[in-house]
Amino acid sequence: MGEMIKLLDLGPEALKAELSQSLAQWEEKPFRARQVIRQVYQRCKLDFQDMTDLPAALRSNLAGTYLLQLLTPLERAVSADGTVKTLWELGDSARVESVAIPMEAGRRTFCLSTQTGCGLGCSFCATGKLGAGRNLSAGEIICQALAGIAETSLSSGPRVDGSERTSSPNLVFMGMGEPLLNYDNLKTALEVLNHPELAQVGSRRITVSTVGLPEQIVRFCRDFPQMKLAVSLHAATESLRRTLMPVAGKVSLSDLVEACREANLITGKRITFEYLVIPGVNDRQEDIQALARLCGLVPSKINLIGLNPAEGVPFRPPRAAELARFRDRLSSACSMAVTLRRSHGADIAGACGQLAAGQAPRRR
Ligand code: SF4
Repeated sequence: MGEMIKLLDLGPEALKAELSQSLAQWEEKPFRARQVIRQVYQRCKLDFQDMTDLPAALRSNLAGTYLLQLLTPLERAVSADGTVKTLWELGDSARVESVAIPMEAGRRTFCLSTQTGCGLGCSFCATGKLGAGRNLSAGEIICQALAGIAETSLSSGPRVDGSERTSSPNLVFMGMGEPLLNYDNLKTALEVLNHPELAQVGSRRITVSTVGLPEQIVRFCRDFPQMKLAVSLHAATESLRRTLMPVAGKVSLSDLVEACREANLITGKRITFEYLVIPGVNDRQEDIQALARLCGLVPSKINLIGLNPAEGVPFRPPRAAELARFRDRLSSACSMAVTLRRSHGADIAGACGQLAAGQAPRRR
């Protein structure tokens, strides 16, 4: 038997071509391709034997040719707030984590990983302590979303018109790794997840978060102008940003601002700046003034997040009152919208900055 083909690694056109070629070879009707696609990308079935609307002979041909399940769940942790963190093992034994966060009206937000570690070494991030990992393939990224949706059974619920999910998920690329450093695979995954005949996740429900890489930001906005972009700022002066995020030694704030302005011209959308509040480090009055000034240069909104504790991270999380006070002071210092993101899953190390795939930090 030849090597199994990983269907989830294929972009929309390659996928359709691959399926129609196989169906012709097996003397199956072309419409079977639509059935297979619906089962995989909309019903989130990752085992051909579960696709009971397909004839048994076709199921066994498919199962002998294509590998769907690219991730094995190793551990699942459920937070008191309903957030579920899953530790996955990949085909080469590498590990990643993804998180499913319950939202209002039965919706869920899935936080997905794009790399098995991260070489960018932000000082507040557990993934950064692992050091560089490998890029996930498009299929491994897509599989986190499909398996997550299947697990939380959004896919089997009633549908409005027979094709669309009644409770469409949100996808945020804020898990392990820097998404824009794995651009080609991210792009294929986004094309598949967003495609109206495939996974059907609306552009406005997809957010890609980046540490702020100018060229890739512009590229992403040209390729996916309807999707949301979140830029991790975390400090509004060069010197402080360099101490928190080594990448700031290579990318100046003025280059980042320039890229964000260009992104805004391409998409017509405001940029979301993410700002992790770290008491005594970036929450002083001078930080507020610098942040208000910087964000005033770009049509933007500011999303505040309280730092979450993580192994090896030398800062303490803010108290709720400190966070609220920072938000109020910032709101009165600037004209843009300031929101405070509630942390989910902190008790299972599933919140922002805490993902580390159950591994001890590597000594650096
Ligand atoms: S915050 Fe993002 S870019 Fe920074 S180390 Fe963590 S995963 Fe990497």
